[in-house]
Amino acid sequence: MNNNILMLTTIISEQEQNLLQQAIENSCNVVIVAHVAPDGDAVGSSLALSGVLKKLGKQVEVVMPDALPKSIMFLQGATDINIYKNNTERCKNIITNADTIFCLDFNEPKRVDLMQEDLVSAKAYKVMIDHHINPSDFCNLIISYPQISSTSLLVYKILNQLGLEEKVQKSEAEAIYTGMMTDTGNFSYNSNDSDIYIAISQLLQRGIDKDEIYKIVCNTSTISKLKLNSYAISEKMEILDGGVAIITLTRSELNRYSYQKGDTEGLVNQPLGIEGVNVSIFFREESDYVKVSLRSVGDYAVNIIASELYNGGGHKNASGGEFFGTIEEAVTLIKSQINTYSKTNED
Ligand code: 5GP
Ligand code: MN
Repeated sequence: MNNNILMLTTIISEQEQNLLQQAIENSCNVVIVAHVAPDGDAVGSSLALSGVLKKLGKQVEVVMPDALPKSIMFLQGATDINIYKNNTERCKNIITNADTIFCLDFNEPKRVDLMQEDLVSAKAYKVMIDHHINPSDFCNLIISYPQISSTSLLVYKILNQLGLEEKVQKSEAEAIYTGMMTDTGNFSYNSNDSDIYIAISQLLQRGIDKDEIYKIVCNTSTISKLKLNSYAISEKMEILDGGVAIITLTRSELNRYSYQKGDTEGLVNQPLGIEGVNVSIFFREESDYVKVSLRSVGDYAVNIIASELYNGGGHKNASGGEFFGTIEEAVTLIKSQINTYSKTNED
């Protein structure tokens, strides 16, 4: 090991860099969109890019399909984000009038839910910046790097590569850090890339308070949320042979604990703390479908299960989907199929 100053590695190809530079130079009215049920990474990457583009003199609007989690609202610019579900006409206009649209943290139009049609039919030059596998071909420029743990880190690396790092100031740095933190479970998975820590060091130099960000984003429990999660673990968790944990929560159970959106965030990760458990699946009954969240450790690829059984996808160790049937049927399905997947994963 020598004493050279640690530097971020470059990520995008020269061609991508040239095309992206051109796209930014040619843009005037920029729109940034991210996926439905926006998380820390979707919001963080969008606000960071938005902040930098505004400093370059661009007109920028951020549009998300539905509301942001409360815990993310502290980020500068979060309250200015346009929510399609609440303000559909305004959002339709913004999308239609954009000359450039950045699609952040998603890989297929389906992930923007109600906005899908407007996004696909928009005339703008579209740029995807994302880290999910198998990007679909709906953007003019696709910058897809699944090996990067968060879109926020990818955006930060790209901004550095474009020589725009000086435009990343405290508020953009907070947004990037938040996305990096939430997409790695506070740097507990997908987090062995040394660039993560070089980036964190540089973000700290912009004055962010990482301990405070952790507190704001993660210490957001309420009595009913804690009781719901405790109930789920103590009464509703089942461990199948082969170290597969299953948790189910029905609508009536959720109602009993006054469920609010986001209250079961992180629940699916809990069983992975049990020795011998390497897959965890959480089924939550929504009004017209069952939301499925899957997590795993090591080489076990749960995104295959998400896409083959639950109309979804995601990352190898963190994925999700939707099941259109009863919650019992959703559970029966995985119980009858799980052995085939454990075999696939041992190969
Ligand atoms: P979560 O379980 O936190 O909702 O989702 C974990 C990850 O799985 C997300 O970051 C996203 O990549 C992916 N994911 C979740 N739900 C879906 C879905 O319905 N479709 C697809 N393609 N991916 C999903
Ligand atoms: Mn992400």
